[in-house]
Amino acid sequence: MIIGSHVHFNNEQLLGAIKEAISYGANACMIYTGAPQNTIRSEINLNYLNEAVKLMKDNNISAENIICHAPYIINLANKDKIESWNFSISFLKNEIKRCEKLGIKYIVLHPGSSVKLSKEEGINNIIEALNYVIDDDDKCLILLETMAGKGSECGSKLEEIKMILEGVPKKLGVCIDTCHLNDAGYDLQDFDTFLNCFDNLIGISKIKCVHVNDSKNVLGSHKDRHENIGLGHIGFETILKIVNNPKLKDVPKILETPYVSKNGGEKELVYPPYKFEIEMLRKGEFNPNLLADIREYYK
Ligand code: FE
Ligand code: FE
Ligand code: ZN
Repeated sequence: MIIGSHVHFNNEQLLGAIKEAISYGANACMIYTGAPQNTIRSEINLNYLNEAVKLMKDNNISAENIICHAPYIINLANKDKIESWNFSISFLKNEIKRCEKLGIKYIVLHPGSSVKLSKEEGINNIIEALNYVIDDDDKCLILLETMAGKGSECGSKLEEIKMILEGVPKKLGVCIDTCHLNDAGYDLQDFDTFLNCFDNLIGISKIKCVHVNDSKNVLGSHKDRHENIGLGHIGFETILKIVNNPKLKDVPKILETPYVSKNGGEKELVYPPYKFEIEMLRKGEFNPNLLADIREYYK
């Protein structure tokens, strides 16, 4: 199973990210190449990069399984604020170059929010922007993430993702997020039916990454609040079937579940859950003491 989690890039850049992934028993990971909320980006340090590549080799971590996530504030759907739309385009172009330097093959992107515009206008703006962003010889592929449909988010329906793919003749892929799919109203209990539907509409081969998250909310809630594996409304058995689906065998699975608090409150989420969630999914067995075990391990 190719599985990992969101990891940090701020200590020793990719080297720190790979070390963190290894500490969770992961063979994949996802990074923001700077803070997810802003677009300030550091120079790539080649010493760290070379060491990271060596560490990846030693631990059988393939470059294909290191995913980048574009920052949230990039919005290609809203052309009302033309300066920020233009900025989003040039930032993404740069970010693709940055990923190429790091040897990263995939960058996950939220399609965007249309804000005051209609969904249709939003989608047309995304298509126009992506046609500017993507060059034919880019070595890093943009993956459109399926969204929960919170607010004016575009891309919560597979038909919307399909429209974008059809409007952009250049190469694009898709990242499915289990929490987002649930919140968007796709019932994952029968995952094979969902995959068939995806295959008929878009084609399974477009899926290059799966974000594996449980959801704090019920089917169709349009909320987008991730939950630890097995503790939410999707449930352990369904998530287990998804990560073990033979059709997605070679696709990296990335956890973006919330950190765990010291003593059960909603605040001060300090302990990463990933080592324990990865262990559960590899074993195929739910750990009813998940949170307690995480607190014990990191205290
Ligand atoms: Fe995302
Ligand atoms: Fe996600
Ligand atoms: Zn989310």
